[in-house]
Amino acid sequence: MDTLIKNITIITMNRDQKVIQSGYLGVENGKISTIGDGEASIEIEEGAKQVINGKGKWALPGLINTHGHIGMGLLRGHADDLPLHRWLEEKMWPFEGQLDREAVFAARQLAMVEMVKSGTTTFLEMYHLWMDDLAEEVERNGMKAVLMRSMIGLCSEEEQKAKLQEAVAFAKAWNRQANGRIQTMMAPHAPYTCPPAFIERITEAAREENLGLHMHIAETKKEVEDHVNLYGMHPLNHLKELGVFENTHWLLAHCVHIGEEQIELLKSYPIHVSHNPMSNLKLGSGIAPVGEMLAKGINVALGTDSVASNNHLDLIEEMRFAALLQKGRNLDPTVLPAEEALMMATRNGALALGLDGEVGTLQKGAEADVILVKANEAHLQPWSHPFSHAVYALKGADVTDVFVQGVQLMENRQLKTLDEEKIVAEANKHYERMLTLL
Ligand SMILES: [Zn+2]
Repeated sequence: MDTLIKNITIITMNRDQKVIQSGYLGVENGKISTIGDGEASIEIEEGAKQVINGKGKWALPGLINTHGHIGMGLLRGHADDLPLHRWLEEKMWPFEGQLDREAVFAARQLAMVEMVKSGTTTFLEMYHLWMDDLAEEVERNGMKAVLMRSMIGLCSEEEQKAKLQEAVAFAKAWNRQANGRIQTMMAPHAPYTCPPAFIERITEAAREENLGLHMHIAETKKEVEDHVNLYGMHPLNHLKELGVFENTHWLLAHCVHIGEEQIELLKSYPIHVSHNPMSNLKLGSGIAPVGEMLAKGINVALGTDSVASNNHLDLIEEMRFAALLQKGRNLDPTVLPAEEALMMATRNGALALGLDGEVGTLQKGAEADVILVKANEAHLQPWSHPFSHAVYALKGADVTDVFVQGVQLMENRQLKTLDEEKIVAEANKHYERMLTLL
């Protein structure tokens, strides 16, 4: 056995949502080889190359961020509190227009530091710039990622074709690489930035390569109203009419402005949803009907979106907001209980991304994506309510250790594969440099 973690509370997130109050968890060849109550046997302990005493800590599955654009990592705080169109046209797009390879790399390094330090082991990146650089870096630093070259179709047909070729080439080159830590998808940006025929072509390419698809949809009220004015129907109904949902794995980000009819539609395929509560709030987009979607059995996972609209990548915060917002929205405290919110950040995320290997759970045979949190802090007492505390009281900074496929990426809050001090300095250097170019 490679690693044994003993004397630890284990929140398994398996089907019966079992919590082991004091037990042990062993890792071998990247997978959980043993998990149990009480003390590990002498043979197990003596056979382990590394033994970690988890006293005072909990183990949870690594958190899974199902929507983001970490290439925009230098835009945190660059512009806040503006109407969406002014925010985009006056602040975001001019800055993004100046981004070069080094700046995007620095932005992503910063984001990965933040994610690992707050317990995220798997993330989705939907972006159009230097995706190969990111894939190489993920291969090196040990995280898990679902990567895609995002496409905007407001351009000539030749340009659309070139973008699609690039996206397919990237997806084929990197799918299931890095010992399966990297998977790829196809990503039309949104129905308001991609003409229907382009979305159809992208879907066809995804089917040919057996890849899932990811897209923003129904994020703002205006987007839906414009679509109804242009095509006579809600964008989700329109995509259904086009047949793009047939025989594909879709993960749709946002789904804020949907009604009962669209919820039925999502359920009938089934389509997975990435809920991004804080981004939706900060941009004044609204609150997605997550309680209603979950009640229908739709798989809803969590995403942060980019730090330009959040402004952080801490999924623990996101989970808490998701739970609280649904209670407030429905005037009903029973909607989205703690266990379900934690499920959204773990197992639902793995299903949404189409990950194999029982990712998002801690059970024998599952890939060993594990985080440890320091549970003896005052804000997590009395100690006997781990589900409640994980959602309503935990902080990203409580995460002490992070493992992906059994490899330790953080030990006692020290990152082992990312040079935090250097990365923070580089990010600031590149941000200052970008400002001089605007
Ligand atoms: Zn987004």
